[in-house]
Amino acid sequence: MQYEPVIGLEVHAQLQTDSKMFCRCSTDYSGAEPNTHTCPVCAGFPGVLPVINERAVELAIRVGLALGCRIAGVSRFDRKHYPYPDLPKGYQISQYDLPLAVEGRVPVVSDGTEREIGIIRVHMEEDTAKANHRRSAEGEVYTLVDLNRSGVPLLEIVSAPDLRSPAEAREYVARLRQTLRYIDACSGNMEQGALRVDANVSIRPVGSQEFGAKVEIKNLNSFRAVERALEYEIRRQTQAVESGAKVSQETRGWDEAAGETLSQRTKEYASDYRYFPEPDLPPLIISEQRSRETEARMVELPRARRTRFVEILGLPEYDAELLTASRETADYFELVLVNLGERVPAKQAANWITGDLFRLLKSDNGSITDTKISPSSLAEIVTMVHDGKINPSTGRQLLEEVYVSGGSPGALVAERGMAQISGESELVEIVHTVLEKNPRAVEDYNRGKHQAVAFLVGQVMRETKGRAKAESARSVLLEQLQAGRAGD
Ligand code: ADP
Ligand code: ZN
Ligand code: MG
Repeated sequence: MQYEPVIGLEVHAQLQTDSKMFCRCSTDYSGAEPNTHTCPVCAGFPGVLPVINERAVELAIRVGLALGCRIAGVSRFDRKHYPYPDLPKGYQISQYDLPLAVEGRVPVVSDGTEREIGIIRVHMEEDTAKANHRRSAEGEVYTLVDLNRSGVPLLEIVSAPDLRSPAEAREYVARLRQTLRYIDACSGNMEQGALRVDANVSIRPVGSQEFGAKVEIKNLNSFRAVERALEYEIRRQTQAVESGAKVSQETRGWDEAAGETLSQRTKEYASDYRYFPEPDLPPLIISEQRSRETEARMVELPRARRTRFVEILGLPEYDAELLTASRETADYFELVLVNLGERVPAKQAANWITGDLFRLLKSDNGSITDTKISPSSLAEIVTMVHDGKINPSTGRQLLEEVYVSGGSPGALVAERGMAQISGESELVEIVHTVLEKNPRAVEDYNRGKHQAVAFLVGQVMRETKGRAKAESARSVLLEQLQAGRAGD
């Protein structure tokens, strides 16, 4: 029998706020000493009161809208209880039956076709502290708790079980991350834990409409881990089923080094968490007007921008994809267009960015937001090449130079005499010099050896250091050679 996987992802995204979800502690704790970014609220002292971070709410609404969700007019915070050292209060403030946003979608392109993956819900919660497990010299295991992360605002984004392969799951995370970054909601930095994935997976006979028992793999911290853990788990479940065993519903961890998932515990159910409404927080009311205003302020999202680049600017899909990978790249490209000579096709600017500029950025790990070559300088180079003022290799040379030291490409061209020779008279002069220096070749030509022309063109190109167009050099040469013969 053939089996197919069914996958649904729960993504935790840290919201990019300055302060934590329910207190004023700074979220900028990376590199800080443990327990230096904490207060009685996020340390879970009794008797303190949480206050909702407005900025976090604003970002959450933005995410909900960007994912095409319906924003709930009224949502609520609940307490989710579990006993664990990284949870000082013994419960996490989360949202349970009234989440902030529901029923959205993420467009995913896989195998060249676009599919929409459903979003069931998006809810707000607070991050846990960090438990660092250690082993003493005597071999005793102990745990140190760092509260710096405790109470950082998180969004949990729950997909429908719509994904059908590990590669598609990876692509979904990539698209989701791209959108979160476009709207400045989350850094998307997986190595730093700003985006973490729990992957749910089950298998079923191909053609079956029912779902099998699912396994949840916790805390996947990279694209690679998402894909590999799912591949492993699908293989494990398939082997189990084929050997007559049953897959049991459970929570597993991913061992990166061993490349396998390990059973951690049997699955918890909602009743295990003893959810109840957070009595210290009012319901979260979001008016329709507020949602509309947030939507009106929203930047153009990746898919819309990609489509516009293809349909309005006439770019190939592939270029549009590369140029919209990040909002910063797309902004840079559009600023180049604004500065581009009128008749220069957008595709030419696209080529220079995705080719030479990307190569330079890659070579020194540079970022397009603080590169020394401004969009207007790049536009200047593209325009000069397009107009034949400089040749493409001079353009490339200029790009590299301005990339390293800044400056104006136009000024450099004038200063160094890098402009392509377009004036006839300058070229005629150079051709005369070349003919004088190469009497043998001229003689060969006169005796009917026409290969001599190619040699002479080469000499002219050398003399002009590539600033002449080969076709112009050739026609001026022929003119002068004919004239020389006529004068014999
Ligand atoms: P739970 O009650 O276990 O939290 P949910 O219904 O909330 O389950 O779903 C959690 C995640 O698991 C969602 O992303 C959902 O798409 C996914 N999921 C649900 N059922 C299955 C299944 N049978 N196989 C794979 N994924 C599933
Ligand atoms: Zn605090
Ligand atoms: Mg659930």
